[in-house]
Amino acid sequence: MTTPCIICVAITGSLPRKADNPAVPVTITEQVESTHAAFEAGATIAHCHVRNEDETPSSDPDKFAALKEGLEKHCPGIIVQLSTGGRSGAGQARGGMLPLVPDMASLSVGSNNFPTRVYENPPDLVDWLAAEMVTHGVKPEIEAFDLSHILKAHEMWKKGQITDLPYVQFVMGVKNAMPADREVFDYYIKTVHRLFGANAPWCAAGIGPNQIVLNDWAVSSGGHARTGLEDNVRLDKSTLAPSNAALVRRVVDLCAKYERPVATAAQARKILGLRAAA
Ligand SMILES: [Zn+2]
Repeated sequence: MTTPCIICVAITGSLPRKADNPAVPVTITEQVESTHAAFEAGATIAHCHVRNEDETPSSDPDKFAALKEGLEKHCPGIIVQLSTGGRSGAGQARGGMLPLVPDMASLSVGSNNFPTRVYENPPDLVDWLAAEMVTHGVKPEIEAFDLSHILKAHEMWKKGQITDLPYVQFVMGVKNAMPADREVFDYYIKTVHRLFGANAPWCAAGIGPNQIVLNDWAVSSGGHARTGLEDNVRLDKSTLAPSNAALVRRVVDLCAKYERPVATAAQARKILGLRAAA
């Protein structure tokens, strides 16, 4: 049997605003409703950022707590993944929500360029975030914006800074970082299998119009797929995505095309080695 495909929905992010697409959920209530529809459509990981009332990014642990509680109540079994990404806070504030013990948190292990700035992940902060995740029993998802990030995750795993088998996400198509390049993508998969074993799960995310491209590559190559308004607000050049759920449905269609079952929340937890839902 082919491995079920885990669909992650990145519901909000820190960049897109309602002016870009009114479907971007900003308040906690909107975020819970949008995730619920995406969950019903087939998503089993919710990748979460929180926002202030003026839509600017926040790293307020109280907001994360309210969102986590709402998601766990309305989307039973869903895997809650909180972002420790660098757009929403500075320094250790990026990990201030880890004591909430979400199922997962994103972890960037190296720096690179973003469209208009440097995405700074200094070694001491990376070490601290990883240690906090070990302390609180939070599984990291390694955000690989570059090949070196996969090798860094391997080094951290060998040193015990990451205790579970690393779950690596390939991020492609961020301007000034790694483009959506098929040969690099295939080499990423080869590298994950070489370093972490032939059965190590991995996932992929593409930005903007690359989202559906990476979805296709990941689903057809046995990986897991991320979609959502954080990475892309359009269905095509002239059509805004009406919801996160609509973007999830595109991945569900790809799963049908490539004969991959869509993972249930319980299956996704098993594949990722996560505890059963409370
Ligand atoms: Zn994010």
